[in-house]
Amino acid sequence: MSITGAQIGAGDVTVIEARPVQVLGFCPGCGAEGRLRDHIIRELTDIPVAGHPTRLRVRVPRFVCEGAECLRKVFQAQLEAAEPGAKTTRRCRKWILARLAIDKMSVRAVAAALGLGWDLVNDLAVDSARSLIYDDPSHLDRVRILGVDEHYWKHVRGQGEENFATILVDLTPAIEGSGPARLLDVRAGRSAKVLTQWLDERSAAFRDQVQVVTMDGFTGYHSATKASLPEATPVMDPFHTVQLAGQKVTGCRQRLQQQILGHRGRKDDLLYRGRRTLLTRRSLLNQRGIDRLERLFNQREEHIALEVTYLAYQDIITAYSHPDRRIGKKLMTALIDKLRKRLPDGLEELAQLGRTLWRKRDQILAFFDHGGTSNGPVEAINGRLEHLRGIALGFRNFTHYVLRCLLHSGQLAARINAL
Ligand SMILES: [Zn+2]
Repeated sequence: MSITGAQIGAGDVTVIEARPVQVLGFCPGCGAEGRLRDHIIRELTDIPVAGHPTRLRVRVPRFVCEGAECLRKVFQAQLEAAEPGAKTTRRCRKWILARLAIDKMSVRAVAAALGLGWDLVNDLAVDSARSLIYDDPSHLDRVRILGVDEHYWKHVRGQGEENFATILVDLTPAIEGSGPARLLDVRAGRSAKVLTQWLDERSAAFRDQVQVVTMDGFTGYHSATKASLPEATPVMDPFHTVQLAGQKVTGCRQRLQQQILGHRGRKDDLLYRGRRTLLTRRSLLNQRGIDRLERLFNQREEHIALEVTYLAYQDIITAYSHPDRRIGKKLMTALIDKLRKRLPDGLEELAQLGRTLWRKRDQILAFFDHGGTSNGPVEAINGRLEHLRGIALGFRNFTHYVLRCLLHSGQLAARINAL
């Protein structure tokens, strides 16, 4: 490209006039050499120059195809600086991704620097990020352990309709201890259909190599896995089992609160004040936390229901975190068997938990056979949580949500630098 002129346009935009140095006039339809017809001006957004948004106005030759059989009549010369049909230069797309993924700039700031709209920049970034990750044919190599998660996101922080997305994660490196979990894809919706469709779009070789699918309790994913990957073992994600048990502890606490005190939690109620301590892993509590629980459990006789539910919750955490998977499995099996028996009245939440654990026992216990090395799974869970924290915010639209997921997956920086 050679520059033929420059001017300051409206809105502080630097307009650079240019023409391609080397013109290839071969028809993209048939490959025949075309006859020069005229020129058009193609406008491209380029990287900002000295802090000002920049537009390239390129004088592009157009040709008439003279191939007898060809359906193309007129075609433009292709530019090296931009993909056919693109509104931005190649280096500008790279610049956008680098600002977002490496410098952690917001879409708003990047859009302002380029003099473009938010939606346009967001869509451009999602497209570039996606193709950067997904066009790499080795992207899905060696996925043995596939994690499937549902996440909800909102249009606007704190309000708006809730939507669900299905997140697909490669847990293989995390479980094998060779690296962090990798985000593979994000799809709108959370039905069996979403997962089935995604699996069916993959190659047979990919489906054959997946040995384990970890998922939460949502049965849609389970049936999709059974149908599309009959050889793979479905495994309940420990994070979801622990979360479910934690919800039962909270449910029991709130029920006692209502039954005994007749009102919702107040800040001077022991039941209310213990709400977080109850959910904390026992080995992480300090003496103050232990004393607080002691006082809470001994405060009234009725609190025994809370204590029993709490102990089951802690037993689940202990089983999962046991360094010897075989012992962990024995502990979990014993707990599931124990909760399956008829429990005394007043333990509604624990009885519910027991029924769910029994129904999902194959998936829950499979974790202990496929969980890999001793600390791998714990790291995988932590990685997942970290991943969640970044994306559990409100989002304007689904493509922005996907962009955030891709940016947070940590796979982009190395690829951008390699461009
Ligand atoms: Zn042609």
